[in-house]
Amino acid sequence: MSNMVFDLLIKNGKIVNGTGNPWFKADIGIKNGKIEKIGRLDSADAEKILDAEGLIVSPGFIDMHNHSDISVFFNPKLESTIRQGITTLVIGNCGSSLAPVNPATKDLFMKHIEAFLPSDAELEVTWNTFEEYLNKLEEIEMAANIAPLVGHGTVRIAVMGFDDREPTAEELDEMKKLVAEAMEAGAFGMSTGLIYPPGVYSKTEELVELCKVVAKYGGIYVSHIRGEGGTLIEAVKEAIYIGEKAGVPVEISHHKAAGKSNWGKTKETLKLMEEARKRGVDVTCDQYPYRAGMTSLSAVLPPWVHVGGVEEMLRRLRDPKEREKIRRDIEQGLPGWENFVADCGWENIYISSVVTEKNKHLEGKNVAEIAKIKGKDELDAVCDLLLEEDGRVTIVLFMMDEEDIVRVMKSPLQMVATDAWAVAPYGVLGAGKPHPRFYGTYPRVLGRYVREKKVLTLEEAVRKMTSFPAQKLGLKDRGLILEGMWADIVIFDPAKIIDKATYQNPHQYPEGIEYVIVNGKIVVENGEHTGVLPGKTLRHR
Ligand SMILES: [Zn+2]
Repeated sequence: MSNMVFDLLIKNGKIVNGTGNPWFKADIGIKNGKIEKIGRLDSADAEKILDAEGLIVSPGFIDMHNHSDISVFFNPKLESTIRQGITTLVIGNCGSSLAPVNPATKDLFMKHIEAFLPSDAELEVTWNTFEEYLNKLEEIEMAANIAPLVGHGTVRIAVMGFDDREPTAEELDEMKKLVAEAMEAGAFGMSTGLIYPPGVYSKTEELVELCKVVAKYGGIYVSHIRGEGGTLIEAVKEAIYIGEKAGVPVEISHHKAAGKSNWGKTKETLKLMEEARKRGVDVTCDQYPYRAGMTSLSAVLPPWVHVGGVEEMLRRLRDPKEREKIRRDIEQGLPGWENFVADCGWENIYISSVVTEKNKHLEGKNVAEIAKIKGKDELDAVCDLLLEEDGRVTIVLFMMDEEDIVRVMKSPLQMVATDAWAVAPYGVLGAGKPHPRFYGTYPRVLGRYVREKKVLTLEEAVRKMTSFPAQKLGLKDRGLILEGMWADIVIFDPAKIIDKATYQNPHQYPEGIEYVIVNGKIVVENGEHTGVLPGKTLRHR
């Protein structure tokens, strides 16, 4: 043991290795980006030695549900995610990936993703196929690893735009081909966003057919299910049905029961998942630990308003007759449609970001307040705001109950995820009031739910953040501290770790995370970003 020399040596830490086993004390020697040796390494030498006395050393967190697809192009330091210990981000969620792109429908696609671009920023989409997109991602140096999913919505836009109908046999074949191409290129699976256009227009059988392709490549089906409020139970059943019919593992995204009249329904959804697993369906879920959700303001509109894409939506909002139809549908509901206003109420829907300077003062206010300020009713206030902002408004909705959050968190089927994209307290990604989960998800689970509320043991929480998502993704060389694994590591103080971001003041880094190491390189040191960008674009093989 005498002459061992490492690139990096972590000494004296308590290792929580990601399996769920109790911590143990050991040193970790890292060489060429990987964990080479774990044990007593008293006489070993290294270019750099970190003293982790009194600290927890765990695998880097794997964020099963992330939306940094666009962020990586604008700030590859991935500040808000790396600072909370996330070393691998799964992107392409909620049906929305940046590829494949069909030149014939590219305009519709660009207008659609514009809603998620920072103000005044432009994204140059130079690729068409998923392979070309991943090649582009590989050129970008970034702070963390990226694991891509292909979005069903993106595939549907490529083949049939924003049409509200079933695909023809030829169109379905074309979609299958695009999904197969994405899986060949290295996608980890396919995601859906079944409350968003155009995913909302698809029937179950279309998804089964596409998932059969995903299954053939050993990928997973990741779903923002068709409803998380009034239609939650049926939506969970649909996701499980798709898994069963297509023979594909299922991941239910950001699992929740939305709206007061639906609180408590997670008892039944968790039971449905457990029963499905007894039948051999690999269904699991992920969750962020907050009572509010976040989405785009246009998601409160009935599905028919989105037919034809963003320009068509804006045209309908301008038309008084169409606006009356929207008002009626929101008041009365439509079968199978997730109606946020009915589930949550206007007073629980807060504006999180706008793009124009003149409406900035509305950020952080709820729709009922804004209606009062503007002297109009809520629906007109919302429609007019969408028009003024060209559809680019995001919202935070208060809709969950703490009991459901804790119940889902305690389930062994739950893993932790942010449902956020990387932002920063500066630059183009520093605008608006993003959901505090963007900065605080993992430290909040470890501080509030492990240390303070004792909902989970530290070891179980770390398992849900590391080896469990790795297993679901089929990532065999990350998510555990074992010799031979890539050295993605977080070192934190279990007595101090906590989230600082709030709804009113979200751009705040958490406390208690001392070091974050990605592929053997230190990206966060003493709580500060080193500027090192060692992340890799991972491909499912
Ligand atoms: Zn979603």
